[in-house]
Amino acid sequence: MKVAVYYNNQDVRVEDRPIPKPKKGELLVKTKACGVCVADTMEWYLSPRAPLTLGHEPSGIIEEVGAEVTQFKRGDRVAVHHHVPCLICEHCRRGNFTMCSTFRKTHIHPGGFSEYFITSALHAERDTHLLPDHVSFEEGTLIEPLACVIHGIKKSGIQAGDSVALIGTGTMGLMFIQSLIYWGVRKLIVYEILDWRIEKAKDFGAPTVLTPHKDSDEEAARLQDLLKSNGADKVIVAAKDISAMNLGLRLVNKGGTVLFFATPHPDEFIKVFPSHLFFNEITITSSYSADHLDTRMALDLIVKGDVAAKKLISHYFPLENLSDAILQTASRKESLKCVVKFD
Ligand SMILES: [Zn+2]
Ligand SMILES: [Zn+2]
Repeated sequence: MKVAVYYNNQDVRVEDRPIPKPKKGELLVKTKACGVCVADTMEWYLSPRAPLTLGHEPSGIIEEVGAEVTQFKRGDRVAVHHHVPCLICEHCRRGNFTMCSTFRKTHIHPGGFSEYFITSALHAERDTHLLPDHVSFEEGTLIEPLACVIHGIKKSGIQAGDSVALIGTGTMGLMFIQSLIYWGVRKLIVYEILDWRIEKAKDFGAPTVLTPHKDSDEEAARLQDLLKSNGADKVIVAAKDISAMNLGLRLVNKGGTVLFFATPHPDEFIKVFPSHLFFNEITITSSYSADHLDTRMALDLIVKGDVAAKKLISHYFPLENLSDAILQTASRKESLKCVVKFD
């Protein structure tokens, strides 16, 4: 089987390896599609661990099941989540499944950018999903990223009737727009600086898309006027720029929450004034990855069409061109989700 091995964004090599055999409880999946994530472009995060095989947004057809697998059979069309929690550790007991050490350790092998991959028995049991016939493999790759969006919405405590400011409309931002509308937010104000993304945000249903004012005080004044309020009840920062995070803190209402959704470089930092947080009861929170409950909801939103999955995919690449797919994703040039497609 062909396996893509990552060294850096420019250097991804395709190797030939034997197809693995599934052991007890495991599944061997023939990959049909796998999404490229922004995390697959973060060289500072990936290169120290290279060479490695990426791909955590896969879908495919079960080629072979290990002994004692009863819930799946050869030929089933599935999407597999790459991390699964233990359900019994201190973090799982408190519902913080993505903090579970089993969650962090579990992976599909060798990864989604491979013609075949193995899922563990835990994956098969807890976070492998049958795709209905009308959901394509390509659409199935969006379950994981959409689940991360749902995880972020839950972490920020967004409720029906809230006003929300969303900063950044990459693929994740566009999924936020659709999910927030589904969630029943009262007012949604979206911020974006790139013209083509502003058009996309409108196309995906954003009622109001603004280019943020250079002066954050002026932007806060404009938002207050629009919302007839002191600020947005919840702010989602789906951009990794520090300026976006600072803007997010400026736009939040008293008693509100700011969610930092994107990952900046680990050396970057922001300044906060604890007395401002104190007197205004502002919560700063963050969200990492997605759990087995989020993936179920994501699949449901895609199945029912509440999130238009197909429209989010702009480019398809063969496995041999994975480096191009990574570079396309890293550039902010006109692209949404890049997906690697297999024959
Ligand atoms: Zn991802
Ligand atoms: Zn656990």
